[in-house]
Amino acid sequence: MKILLVEDTRALAVVLTARLNSFGYEVLVAENGKVAIECFKQDVPDLILMDIEMPVMNGFEATSRIRAYETSQQWAWTPIIFLTASDSPDNLVTAIEAGADDFLSKSITEPVLSAKMKAMTRIAALRQRLSVANQKLYEQASRDGLTGLFNRRHMDAQTDLAWENAQRGGHPFAILMLDIDNFKKYNDHYGHQAGDDCLKQVAQAIARVVDAANAQSLTQGCFAARYGGEEFAVVVPAASEGVCERLAHAIIKTIRELNIAHEKNADWGIVTASIGGCRTTVAEAQISNLFRSADAKLYQAKENGRNRAELNQTPVARQVSPAA
Ligand code: GH3
Ligand code: MG
Ligand code: MG
Ligand code: MG
Repeated sequence: MKILLVEDTRALAVVLTARLNSFGYEVLVAENGKVAIECFKQDVPDLILMDIEMPVMNGFEATSRIRAYETSQQWAWTPIIFLTASDSPDNLVTAIEAGADDFLSKSITEPVLSAKMKAMTRIAALRQRLSVANQKLYEQASRDGLTGLFNRRHMDAQTDLAWENAQRGGHPFAILMLDIDNFKKYNDHYGHQAGDDCLKQVAQAIARVVDAANAQSLTQGCFAARYGGEEFAVVVPAASEGVCERLAHAIIKTIRELNIAHEKNADWGIVTASIGGCRTTVAEAQISNLFRSADAKLYQAKENGRNRAELNQTPVARQVSPAA
């Protein structure tokens, strides 16, 4: 177990470290609250022992900041035990309100320190398990059960965040809406189960292209989601006009290359998809307008023969022709 010991009195830090080492714990010492926060962010410990009075930043403030950081990161709770020379009720109340879990006197005997550490380790392990379980639940709740892509609810929340971010930074922002061509006929002809398998493959193809674009730094924070039924959305923050076109083009091509037979898909004979996209510089736009415009472009892509992408890139509208 890793303990972060926050203590400005060097002699005391040395004595406590030796004791804790003798119980089998690994100890890192920070000499004040500010250093403790930096250490915490670099490598989260299993438990923190926190002095109160310290130069630069005291224990109360450091604890409040660590708790705020944990909340912002949706992090597991890390037990924080205050160390103090005086266990006055005032200090106890302030410490608990700042986010501490317990309070120890610096003159604590070795057996009591050992027992307290054991009890805290047990609680920390339980909280850790709970946190892992919560993380899994959160992950499951954000995914679409069939395709494994983000679901609509998660997409909406993430899109709002990315949009706010783009607005603050003055970055362009794009939405691509994708719809599988003649998918009703696919279901009618091959059955619903085959339809489900097809949706999974198409979703994976979209994810592969998006992941590759992020990995090559063509896009940053680009993500795909199942928008509903046989429709998918790709959210593209901060991408250039050219990158959006390439991305749309690559998705259409990759789906075609799956080479999934679809006799009823008019001229193609295989599963294809259409994309409508809208990219804008943020200042003049509203996110709902962006979706509306991408939808209108998708309609146009269908009207123009399917298996293609139509992008509305402000200020000029462009069309991406399907690859040969
Ligand atoms: P278009 O090219 O104009 O998009 O035609 P389309 O047939 O794809 O469009 P339409 O909206 O009429 O049909 C969509 C079909 O998608 C109807 C529905 O049965 C099917 N679908 C929606 N969700 C699922 C799903 O989860 N699994 C399966 N197998 N089919 C689905
Ligand atoms: Mg001190
Ligand atoms: Mg549809
Ligand atoms: Mg369709």
